[in-house]
Amino acid sequence: MTDPDCIFCRIAAGEIPSDTIYEDSDFRVILDLNPASKGHALILPKSHAKDLFELDEEIAAKAVKTAKKVAPALMKAVNADGLNLVQNNGEAAGQTVSHFHMHLIPRFKGAAEIVVWEPGKSDKETQQQIVEAVKANLQ
Ligand code: AMP
Ligand code: ZN
Repeated sequence: MTDPDCIFCRIAAGEIPSDTIYEDSDFRVILDLNPASKGHALILPKSHAKDLFELDEEIAAKAVKTAKKVAPALMKAVNADGLNLVQNNGEAAGQTVSHFHMHLIPRFKGAAEIVVWEPGKSDKETQQQIVEAVKANLQ
């Protein structure tokens, strides 16, 4: 299923031109228009799903396989030393395009940090409450 109003559906379908580095029947992998690093790419499923939670399970599994296939070729192409796999869900998490995608962000020794957070502190009671709440939610 595709959404005619969704820019990533249209890019994945080839209706809007993109710098495509890989394509098969389920995915198109393109270079990001505003890259966080040299070679920053996006894995786009050809079928529309807003985010991870709406994504078909088989496509979700194939998305990781696609990352495993394309990332080494991408890293070699730009001579990267590492790679971040990033996937945002919801505005609060930084998702700006409501069509599931995975970021492949090549990383280079000595370059500025890209995916960073301030390590917090955990307390035993809160951690235990979370463990119990998640287990209850999964039942
Ligand atoms: P996110 O913030 O996870 O939703 O990521 C959206 C990404 O899509 C950003 O890195 C944008 O730079 C990128 N982007 C938005 N529009 C386009 C486009 N037309 N072609 C390629 N990349 C795009
Ligand atoms: Zn879409």
